[in-house]
Amino acid sequence: MTEYSALARIEESLSQLEADSLLRKRVLLESAQGTHVRVDGRDLISFCSNDYLGLANDPALAQAARDAISEFGVGAGASHLVTGHHRLHHEFEQAFARFIGKPAALMFSTGYMANLGVLTALLGRHGEVFADRLNHASLNDAAQQCGAKFTRYAHAELDQLEEQLKKSTAQEKMICTDLVFSMDGDVADVEHLLELAEAHDAWLYLDDAHGFGVLDDGRGGMPASARKSDRVIYLATLGKAAGVFGAAVAAHANVIEWLVQKARPYIYTTAMPPMLAAALIESLKQIEAGNSRRVKLQQHILKLREGLGGLSRWQLMASETPIQPLVIGENAEAVAVSKKLLERGLLVPAIRTPTVPKGSARLRISLSAAHTKAEVDSLVNAIREISET
Ligand SMILES: *Cc1c(COP(=O)(O)O)cnc(C)c1O
Repeated sequence: MTEYSALARIEESLSQLEADSLLRKRVLLESAQGTHVRVDGRDLISFCSNDYLGLANDPALAQAARDAISEFGVGAGASHLVTGHHRLHHEFEQAFARFIGKPAALMFSTGYMANLGVLTALLGRHGEVFADRLNHASLNDAAQQCGAKFTRYAHAELDQLEEQLKKSTAQEKMICTDLVFSMDGDVADVEHLLELAEAHDAWLYLDDAHGFGVLDDGRGGMPASARKSDRVIYLATLGKAAGVFGAAVAAHANVIEWLVQKARPYIYTTAMPPMLAAALIESLKQIEAGNSRRVKLQQHILKLREGLGGLSRWQLMASETPIQPLVIGENAEAVAVSKKLLERGLLVPAIRTPTVPKGSARLRISLSAAHTKAEVDSLVNAIREISET
């Protein structure tokens, strides 16, 4: 044991996490990301990536990156405002804005940084953030760090949100929501949120990390009314269905201009390598032409829901997206089920508190267009078997 007391406290806390079945362990991926992976020396069928369209290891994307490496090398070498802003970034931003149906767009290195950048640039201590309680941690961190008042409403309880908005005296208001909730798979009621934003003169910030590429011909979960509204700011992350890395914010041109001036996680960091922007330009083409992938994904979702619908012990949550959570209950049991699936060669993560509310530990099954019907069947059968023992 160490004699350094701060370190000793950390070691105690780690032991406690272990005792509570809360110690996170990283598995070692030894293959490409995909539905068939090699993890810790074993070949497994994976139901846990966010690579919903199977693009992460797509040959055309990889080739686009290789071509860009040949021409431009691997590093951006500087921040966007110095000399790191490459024409490939610019090209992606324009293609993305056009696809999404917003006037302008800006790339960030990650969704986490984009959320932090948008909220800190648009809100300060005279502002107020209104946030769904199930929003992604990165949105919550951003809300806390921007210095605005942070008000949360119960998941999807828009009557409560309305009351909160009525009471607010903040100069700047922003409603922030996951568009597809990352641990539940349900979709926010954007039309209703936009009505509230209009009635109370608030921004509406939509984090579509899990909808972009998947919903509405790939454009994501934003309805036409929100595309047209100057008060709506849209975020897509590009490491999930898009299969690469990074994030892009689409909004009114002057919002984007303001972010270039003020968003610190955009300004004070090295630009994303141009080769990734090249891969993303190709990814966007595949997403636009990707209806057959989305149809296949939809078939898998229906198949899984049919297969697991009638389980007596565990409840599949009401989700129509590729995120299909099966609620198990206690942390330890969720971990045990995940382990039994692993013994059968199926990789499905157990999501525990504090990521999800206490008592709702779950398997977060995520489906990909790259799965086969037989693989979805094998998962359904394995879960049914385990539930009966
Ligand atoms: C994954 C995720 C993010 C973070 O995006 P990264 O690019 O991985 O940093 C933000 N919001 C939501 C809802 C997410 O699921």
